Amino acid sequence: MDETFICEECRESVNEQASTCPHCGYDPGSEMKSQAKWRLGVGALLCLTIVGGVVGIPLVVSGLRHSSRAEKETPATPAQG
Ligand SMILES: [Zn+2]
Repeated sequence: MDETFICEECRESVNEQASTCPHCGYDPGSEMKSQAKWRLGVGALLCLTIVGGVVGIPLVVSGLRHSSRAEKETPATPAQG
């Protein structure tokens, strides 16, 4: 069983057992690894954004409510005279 794939660089058939293309030296594994890293980075960013939104929005809303309520509750100084 000779499994081959087409090299993305030189379009030659390369044995799947070979880690790099014998024709041009292209390493398909390195690209896959970099893609995985890229996906990990995007995933982490998405997680941070989602967590930040879920945790941050209620904090900001409650903070706004507190400040507005505090302003309303403070008794206005009665005009004297
Ligand atoms: Zn090649």
